[in-house]
Amino acid sequence: MKKISIAIDGPAAAGKSTIAKMVAKNLNYTYIDTGAMYRCVAYYAMKNHIDFEDETGIGELLKNMDIQMLPDGTVHLNHEDVTTYIRENEVSMGASIVSKYAAVRTFLVDKQRQMAQGGGVILDGRDIGTVVLKDAELKIYQIASIECRAMRRHKENIERGLDSDLEAIKAEIAQRDEQDMNRAISPLKKADDAVEIDTSDMSLDEVVAHVMDLVAQRV
Ligand code: C5P
Repeated sequence: MKKISIAIDGPAAAGKSTIAKMVAKNLNYTYIDTGAMYRCVAYYAMKNHIDFEDETGIGELLKNMDIQMLPDGTVHLNHEDVTTYIRENEVSMGASIVSKYAAVRTFLVDKQRQMAQGGGVILDGRDIGTVVLKDAELKIYQIASIECRAMRRHKENIERGLDSDLEAIKAEIAQRDEQDMNRAISPLKKADDAVEIDTSDMSLDEVVAHVMDLVAQRV
């Protein structure tokens, strides 16, 4: 069967990575979490005491960054496994700030395109269908209400035994969306040819089944 490229974009905490991972497994495709790459830049800035708003300083850091996305789903930065560290709240907010810089986007988009070469890939992020893989055979714009997104994240935290504050999560998600949708370069928006899926009232299995139908129509 023909191996296609799949782009999934959408606002923060819409469940994109969960769906992307499940679909990738079904199809035996490679899943690439592009948000994790922006998170690595923010994490590295924190480690080097560079302010997120320091565009020049952040640009300098890129020269010393080697990001590896391993097939087992772990993320390595300069040979250190940073998979869990990059999920911290401060890193999420930092990622949304450093992602507005042209140098950061060029650096990561080049890497993402290299990784996606040859198809059989599913990438999730904010600009996959509009910039990174403009020619992707299937583009999905996955949304859900802010209440629903915050509640899912809250439950996930509790299941993991982490402290969680629903209102704080809601505020963080809303702020990131606002920043991501209003930046000058590659803002989050639905590609003209993307299929929008509102997952607010759908189960995971329903969303996956819907995406698999869309894939079947294209291969
Ligand atoms: O997807 P995730 O929430 O992990 O992404 C973290 C941040 O990285 C987003 O809020 C966004 O600012 C940025 N990002 C981006 N473009 C992508 C993926 C993520 O700007 N393709």
